[in-house]
Amino acid sequence: MSGVVELDAFRKFFLEDMEKAYPEIERTDILPEALHRRAADVGCYRLTMPVEYGGYGMGIMAFLPYLEAAAEGPGIGRMLVHLTNGTWQPLRMFGNEAQRAIIPKIATGKAVVAFCLTEKTGGTGRDLKSRAIRDGDAWRISGEKHLITFADRATHFILVAASDTKGAKDSLTAFLVKRDTPGFEIDASQHTMGMHGTGHAFLRYENMEVADEYRLGEVGQGLEVALSFLDYSRVSLSICMVGLAQRALDEAVAFARNRVTFGRPISTRQAIQGHIANMHSEIEAGRHLVGHAARICEDGGDYTAAAATAKLFCLNMVGRVTDLSLRVHGGFGYTKEAAIERIYRDARGFWFEEGTAEIQELVVARHVLAEN
Ligand SMILES: Cc1cc2nc3c(=O)[nH]c(=O)nc-3n(C[C@H](O)[C@H](O)[C@H](O)COP(=O)(O)OP(=O)(O)OC[C@H]3O[C@@H](n4cnc5c(N)ncnc54)[C@H](O)[C@@H]3O)c2cc1C
Repeated sequence: MSGVVELDAFRKFFLEDMEKAYPEIERTDILPEALHRRAADVGCYRLTMPVEYGGYGMGIMAFLPYLEAAAEGPGIGRMLVHLTNGTWQPLRMFGNEAQRAIIPKIATGKAVVAFCLTEKTGGTGRDLKSRAIRDGDAWRISGEKHLITFADRATHFILVAASDTKGAKDSLTAFLVKRDTPGFEIDASQHTMGMHGTGHAFLRYENMEVADEYRLGEVGQGLEVALSFLDYSRVSLSICMVGLAQRALDEAVAFARNRVTFGRPISTRQAIQGHIANMHSEIEAGRHLVGHAARICEDGGDYTAAAATAKLFCLNMVGRVTDLSLRVHGGFGYTKEAAIERIYRDARGFWFEEGTAEIQELVVARHVLAEN
């Protein structure tokens, strides 16, 4: 893979450049354009993209160490890498020629594609309340979305709406909506607990006219579009949890070595060593589960169960590890001076991203029950 930045240099971008810029990002909740451009220059947005679209064509096994490195820094960094290396996939699988032509622009950062499923007033999948009604050569789309990552800067939005009222598997249709579509309102007043700079927003549209050529995939294929990169994304998200948990451990170890109470560093105390050992073994277990799912994926096997299992374990793991790291830090960890304060908040987003922990349990249970 020619042109791929070395892993150490890549990590440095997230742990030094991003980290340095983060206080301002946290204050404004905006990712500076210059940093977005730098991320593109470092190659963040083209790691897994096929070579014919201007990408490096990395397989998932090669990609994971890069994403894990990104996840050690502020949440915005790993979100950039995780999302951009996922959203080109439905464009390639389902897009027409014009839609596929957007992919090389994602690589350079000129195009940003947001994925829009979640609704404040509707459930996911068949329970979506957004409606798309055919009107000659166009569609009239009405409804709302919220929690849409990078909606602040996205040039295109993969928007899923119900194209009939049957509430069936094939009742959803996907569209690739351009940002400047008349009637498309993007309200970036939604601010999250952590991962600042990720530009979450409310979207509103009432009778928004979208030409049929902007449909992504066939009529009724919306659920398929939405699920098309879910397994891949679960693995990708799981390694982000491993990376952030590793950072939480690294912070705990550094703190424990330096913090002296009653004449000795707390790292010499058995209670603290217990926390460190538990964090380490949890992270190792998560890394192996993710690696296992990725290996099956790379070999072309069915990795749905392995990806769901890795995600379920990792989202609980990152919660437990960040809890323990905060405890090792003592009261200092609860202050804005400590990196763990941000890491702890960033970690909580994983409970919901791309499906909640509770829903993930249902997915895993379904696999187990089907097999036994
Ligand atoms: C950082 C972050 C980034 C995100 N980015 C995006 C994005 O880019 N695009 C996008 O579309 N969405 C995005 N989301 C939204 C995310 O996908 C949803 O929050 C998630 O899928 C849960 O949906 P909900 O918030 O509507 O929860 P709800 O469905 O309201 O769930 C509330 C609670 O009820 C439980 N519950 C709900 N239904 C059931 C059921 N049938 N059975 C059992 N329990 C149930 C849930 O597990 C949860 O505990 C993002 C969220 C976060 C936190």
